[in-house]
Amino acid sequence: MKCDSCREREATVHQTYIVGEAVTHINLCGVCFEASAPAKACDLHTALQIGCRYCGGKPYTGNSHSFGVNGSVGLSFTCKACADEYFRFLRRKVPGFGEPDPTPEQIAEMAGHDMTSVLREADEHMKQWSAERES
Ligand SMILES: [Zn+2]
Ligand SMILES: [Zn+2]
Repeated sequence: MKCDSCREREATVHQTYIVGEAVTHINLCGVCFEASAPAKACDLHTALQIGCRYCGGKPYTGNSHSFGVNGSVGLSFTCKACADEYFRFLRRKVPGFGEPDPTPEQIAEMAGHDMTSVLREADEHMKQWSAERES
């Protein structure tokens, strides 16, 4: 998939914003991402240093996906294993969630869910899942 901004480079930063009932997807390459949001890019480096938000493992940056719910954008990364589990959980709740290129039906489906609580549930699930995985 190409970057939304320059349409030249491959998009590596995928963001989903949910503000009220609107679901917005933004796909940017690293260059445009840093250019468009210097403050967020700063967060990006911090987030990368912290590592996986659940297990502290190596962040999987090949396809980072961050979410902003109701305007609050928290940038964080997960490792590949946690990302897979996170999306597996979310897709079971909300079909089509996290698709880089969702259909209007999938967007309607997402808007029909209380994403704030779905994401909170997913967060809880991940904490439990990574704790079990470590033991
Ligand atoms: Zn770009
Ligand atoms: Zn992890």
